[in-house]
Amino acid sequence: MAENPEFDMATLLAGVTGDANGAISPPIVQSSLFAFKDYQAFEDRLSGHTDTAIYTRVQNPTVAAFETLMAQAENGEAAVGFASGMAAISSSLLAFVRPGDRIACVEHVYGDAYRLFERMLRPLGIDTTYHSMAEIEADEEVIRGARLIYLESPNSLVFQTLNLRKVAERARRLGILTMIDNSWATPVFQRPLDLGIDIVVHSASKYISGHSDTVAGVAISRCQLIDQIRNLSLSLLGGKLAPFEAWLLVRGLRTLDARMHHHQTTADYFVERLADLVAVRQLHFPSLDSTSPLSGRSGLLSVEFDSAVDIPRFCDALKHFKIGVSWGGFESLILPARAALAQAKSPHSMLDFGISPGLVRLSLGLENRELLWTDFQQAVNKGIA
Ligand SMILES: *Cc1c(COP(=O)(O)O)cnc(C)c1O
Repeated sequence: MAENPEFDMATLLAGVTGDANGAISPPIVQSSLFAFKDYQAFEDRLSGHTDTAIYTRVQNPTVAAFETLMAQAENGEAAVGFASGMAAISSSLLAFVRPGDRIACVEHVYGDAYRLFERMLRPLGIDTTYHSMAEIEADEEVIRGARLIYLESPNSLVFQTLNLRKVAERARRLGILTMIDNSWATPVFQRPLDLGIDIVVHSASKYISGHSDTVAGVAISRCQLIDQIRNLSLSLLGGKLAPFEAWLLVRGLRTLDARMHHHQTTADYFVERLADLVAVRQLHFPSLDSTSPLSGRSGLLSVEFDSAVDIPRFCDALKHFKIGVSWGGFESLILPARAALAQAKSPHSMLDFGISPGLVRLSLGLENRELLWTDFQQAVNKGIA
């Protein structure tokens, strides 16, 4: 526990905010192109002797402010922003994998990442194999020969965790790149680059933005790998982050630390009480024991009810939880697996990895926690009645 105790957003923000007028928030540079004062300045930039912005598909000052902050927050050398978490994941992967390569992936990976592997990468000749956390951690044979190991820790819906330092050490010895989706923990509770992981990606639509008003993504790594992602995938696939979205993300980052600790206190409050609730068969949340790289718990966890609970009736009885996908904003949400299992998506990660229809994922927001708990309890009672 406490691998990263001294997360300090105030120091990080001091480096990117402000302009010549003393503005405390970075300006939104809403311009597609950046003109040069003379021929020589233009040639110097194109030949790589200077590095100012040329065109917003690849570089923009507001986006750069967000990228600088994320690089520092994750303790990486550089970062590159994207239009969504999926753009960050797909573009980062496509900068490194080629036909004939294999990706070794954790089970219970995010549903659209699973479909990216199966529906887009597999037809391109890129094979993905799926492994339990125990296998990824301890069985060298499942990773040997892979080009890249794709990780989520905690993974989606069941929130199992990995000893990231161990995985990173073995992968490095075998010459395999490691990439992790760190959306659940954020750099406040886990900094995978410090543990030896090569590339961190985020859906910034979740806790980084924090207000359910932005879809965005980001990748963080060493300069060499980020240059490759920027020059190949960002430039050629074009999934760029917009300046206004980047500005919203910088605003979100100001309160990330405070929000994560509020989410954690509420999650602890729920976890303490959920175990004693009748009709709860199993709780899914990461343990914070001494081997965990996590220094805290976010507000996203799952509850598996037994068959006594009528899931639709339970959902409809909630007053302060909204029903919906995504997570990480102010408002508390539930995602009933029963409805998600009925979704016409193929292949379906919840079916293929095995998720019970009695599972409900909770995103505990920033509302009053006693109010949320009382609401949750009364809805369970109505679900049983
Ligand atoms: C939402 C999510 C994504 C995808 O991010 P978008 O911003 O929606 O494209 C990826 N990974 C995880 C764990 C997510 O929850």
